[in-house]
Amino acid sequence: MNFDFTPEEQTFADEVEAWLVENHDPVVMDHHRENFSQLSDTPERRAFMKKLAAKGWLGMSWPKEYGGQEIEGVYEFILTEALARHAAPQIGKGVGIIGKTLIRHGSDKLKQEFLPKILSAEVEFAVGYSEPQAGSDAANMQLKADKVEGGWNLNGQKMWTTSAHFAEWYWVGARTDPDKSKHNGISLFLIPMDHPGLEVQSLPTIGKDTTNQVFFEDVFVPDDYLVGVRGRGFQYIAEALDLERFTMFTLSPITNRTQVLVDYAKTSKRDGKPVRENPDTRRLIANIVTDTAVSKALSTRFLCAARGGGKPPTIPSSQYKLFTTSLSQRVCDEALDISGAAGTIREGQELAPLLGRFEGAYRATMNETVGGGSSEIQKNIIARRHLGLPKNF
Ligand SMILES: Cc1cc2nc3c(=O)[nH]c(=O)nc-3n(C[C@H](O)[C@H](O)[C@H](O)COP(=O)(O)OP(=O)(O)OC[C@H]3O[C@@H](n4cnc5c(N)ncnc54)[C@H](O)[C@@H]3O)c2cc1C
Repeated sequence: MNFDFTPEEQTFADEVEAWLVENHDPVVMDHHRENFSQLSDTPERRAFMKKLAAKGWLGMSWPKEYGGQEIEGVYEFILTEALARHAAPQIGKGVGIIGKTLIRHGSDKLKQEFLPKILSAEVEFAVGYSEPQAGSDAANMQLKADKVEGGWNLNGQKMWTTSAHFAEWYWVGARTDPDKSKHNGISLFLIPMDHPGLEVQSLPTIGKDTTNQVFFEDVFVPDDYLVGVRGRGFQYIAEALDLERFTMFTLSPITNRTQVLVDYAKTSKRDGKPVRENPDTRRLIANIVTDTAVSKALSTRFLCAARGGGKPPTIPSSQYKLFTTSLSQRVCDEALDISGAAGTIREGQELAPLLGRFEGAYRATMNETVGGGSSEIQKNIIARRHLGLPKNF
């Protein structure tokens, strides 16, 4: 198995890197936003996505009949990692979750309406699966969709909908068939975010940015905006979640942080002594650098899967998400230890080491082991599906 880029892939990686350097814009590319930097939530970031679209870099793996180039997913992997390395907005939600699900399961009407807009970066989506009683157990969602003349009437609540405060469309799971088993009674809908009856309330997080809760009161959705087959929503969600684990939790920001930490340890002093001479610090950093290499090795499993034209495999997705998000937190945690008491000074203060880069990153990375399926859930998947161990509940 070849883990290196082919010459063609390397040429593309070099082209993307050169383009990102040339188009560097500190307003768009903000490392301090950590994982939230992937969102296209400001006019400048929306304009940046349009430039990516003009390069033909959105939907590269889509079939040609839908405006794609039918090239292997490895090119989207390369692009996503490069965008993450530069803290630029990313392509995951529209091109990946919504676009690929519509291509596989959507009606011609939905394909015609949404796919061109995704390719030209004219639309942003929010994804609404989680609810107060449905997080890890997403199949427990209770948002009610009652059948009415010509469509559906939705009532209830979603939690943790990131992007709901700026997106144009809402990709929502709701219970259409309460009499069926919980996995078979859910359908997916597309709803304009400015629809009367939808109320978005902000939930600022520990990681500086915000997510939201959303309330539905008699939100009417026409039949045409039910995605795919009624009752198959959970299967579509599960399919897309494997993809999310890989696109939403990239390795490049961790590699960046590790390098910032190594440079800091090489050049700074603590209590008057060079940090680099402290044996504990050297040990911690050697561990982190080694674990970063392990994460990279896990990510190459995706590279190989993407090369074959297949979808990201479930077990390696879970192993990668589990290991990488926990490493992401550990890098920040240990950077704060190495900084000593000054590590507790808030981001942006002059006295904070590296202007508090790791204090901010430490808070931001707390979200990563929860969103997209918590670490415990990833361990359950590995235990049950990979090792054949029994269910724990
Ligand atoms: C910043 C942020 C952004 C998010 N964005 C979105 C979004 O855009 N759209 C969306 O739909 N959701 C989003 N989420 C929701 C996220 O997917 C859920 O928070 C996550 O799935 C966990 O669900 P929960 O919070 O309800 O926790 P729970 O499911 O209640 O879990 C609580 C604790 O119990 C553990 N646990 C639960 N079940 C088991 C089990 N079977 N075995 C062992 N341990 C278990 C969990 O690991 C966790 O530690 C976001 C969350 C955060 C924090």
